[in-house]
Amino acid sequence: MEGSPERHSKKKVVAVVGGGLVGALNACFFAKRGFDVEVFETREDIRQAKIVKGRSINLALSHRGRQALKHVGMEEKIVSQGIPMHARMIHSLSGKQSPIPYGKKGQYILSVDRANLNKELLTEAETYPNTKLNFDHKLQDWSAETGLMTFVRPDGSTEEVEADLIVGCDGAFSAIRKQFLRRSRFNYSQTYIPHGYMELTMPPINEEFAMKPNYLHIWPRNTFMMIALPNMDKTFTLTFSLLRDYFRLPAQAMVSVKCSPYHIGDKCVLMGDAAHAVVPFYGQGMNAGFEDCIVFDEIMDRFSEDFNAVLPEYTRVRVPDDHAIADLAMYNYIEMRAHVNSKWFLFRKHVDNF
Ligand code: FAD
Repeated sequence: MEGSPERHSKKKVVAVVGGGLVGALNACFFAKRGFDVEVFETREDIRQAKIVKGRSINLALSHRGRQALKHVGMEEKIVSQGIPMHARMIHSLSGKQSPIPYGKKGQYILSVDRANLNKELLTEAETYPNTKLNFDHKLQDWSAETGLMTFVRPDGSTEEVEADLIVGCDGAFSAIRKQFLRRSRFNYSQTYIPHGYMELTMPPINEEFAMKPNYLHIWPRNTFMMIALPNMDKTFTLTFSLLRDYFRLPAQAMVSVKCSPYHIGDKCVLMGDAAHAVVPFYGQGMNAGFEDCIVFDEIMDRFSEDFNAVLPEYTRVRVPDDHAIADLAMYNYIEMRAHVNSKWFLFRKHVDNF
């Protein structure tokens, strides 16, 4: 009964803090279960905003992300707005281009527009009558004992809101996570890599893509690299990963965050980048965040929505997998810059694909 007004509310309040990619999707998951869902997002409504600030213009959506979208009936819509990328296209120094397929014939990942995906997810969340989106609400503080949250509004006033469950989806620099750091036995590490990133746009030539569109293009250059993902308007977004002082350009930092546990009692749980920010080289940050939602949902079924049992089980199941994604992303930081460049790698991939 997706989006149907007949679903009656269970009246337990779930507050999703952060209306980014994972928060907006998560709101759909909780709303589908009949909870009263309140999303609190610090930004204004990006569907009305003239400029949407944020990270990467487009992203690679893969199988794990698609599965989660499918669960809330959004897969087809989002896939139809994406561009399939069947292989990486390696650009060598000499200008030679060599494709390395992602999988078997017919398998691909998709290049999707981040802002559009976020807007679609917010609109989908809003179709549930038991969901309310609160923009311009910046979480300042919250209590693990009472579930009371304090939000700051753009005019400086504050608002207090209580919830039965708080879901921290407020990104890599999560304000929700700050309470976790004050508690005993909370493990936390964050690592900035020396490279930063910048984005450039490659316009179409004669109204056509300037390069072959169905590839994730890579220029591996050992000390730095560039990647390009296609957009529906026939542009490419180039992401340039460089050492900060290389060109003295204002590159954005990239951070990897690992922590454990992901929950406090039966009151709060972290998901998405708030739980596990990863460096972007594996293209799995959002996908892993989307998978968090589906894993949590399955555990909710197994434990009949008893938060007391669900939250520790979620930590037990999810932490090792998310940490593995973080490690793989860090490994790919080297692989995409250097290994894909090596003759040995190209040979191995060539052999693997037969
Ligand atoms: P975010 O997208 O960061 O959303 C957090 C939300 O919380 C934001 O809307 C923010 O405004 C809000 N917020 C923050 N603080 C507060 C507060 N105090 N109160 C209320 N709201 C708050 N992943 C992929 O899967 N594939 C890719 O190809 C890919 N490419 C990437 C390329 C780059 C250059 C980068 C930097 C990342 C890439 N990622 C990719 C990772 C992906 O962007 C993240 O994993 C994803 O955005 C995480 O979603 P999230 O909702 O957890 O966090």
